[in-house]
Amino acid sequence: MSPFWEKAFYLFTFLTQGSSFLNPRAYAIMHRMHHAYSDTEKDPHSPHFMKDVWGLMMKTKRIYHDFVYYKTEPEEAFKGNYPMWPLVDKISDTWAVRIGFGVAYFLVYFFFAAHWWMFLLLPIHFLMGPIQGAIVNWCGHKYGYQNFDNHDQSKNSFPIEIFLMGELFQNNHHKSPNSPNFAKKWFEFDPTYPVMKFLNFIGVIHLRKP
Ligand SMILES: [Zn+2]
Repeated sequence: MSPFWEKAFYLFTFLTQGSSFLNPRAYAIMHRMHHAYSDTEKDPHSPHFMKDVWGLMMKTKRIYHDFVYYKTEPEEAFKGNYPMWPLVDKISDTWAVRIGFGVAYFLVYFFFAAHWWMFLLLPIHFLMGPIQGAIVNWCGHKYGYQNFDNHDQSKNSFPIEIFLMGELFQNNHHKSPNSPNFAKKWFEFDPTYPVMKFLNFIGVIHLRKP
């Protein structure tokens, strides 16, 4: 995408992820590590070295923070070619902003919740980013079927991948990491792919030829 759209999406990501905004640079580095070392000890979030999903989240958080605060130097191969906007990273990572978003979410519930139990859903909104990550990283390498032998434990987690916008076609994604379409068989559907095709059609993004 052009520098303009890159900035627009960076900001839009901050506004929509809100209280749990994840730093794109740190996210990109960890995702590249995950692909290079899938389900080995050097994989930053393989479920196969953890006893539960909480342990997986805590380990992921530790590695993520080390990259965010430049405490760990990534391997050379994982550096570069990611968007960076230090000002947004800095603002988004302050307690004032994170709590501000939390208060905003609370107010939506306060005015619109029809039952008290709905407030129990609030923590999910406070931690949307890490919870989505935990579901994908845990389920996507543990439950489901394999179309391809990728020498790892990546799975296609039928039928919940549709709720994760196709991200749980992990087995397909590890087979062809550069393909924008995570669905490979006739019965699989990646809901994000038509969105990307539309954005490509109107010129917001440019899909590379495989
Ligand atoms: Zn994976």
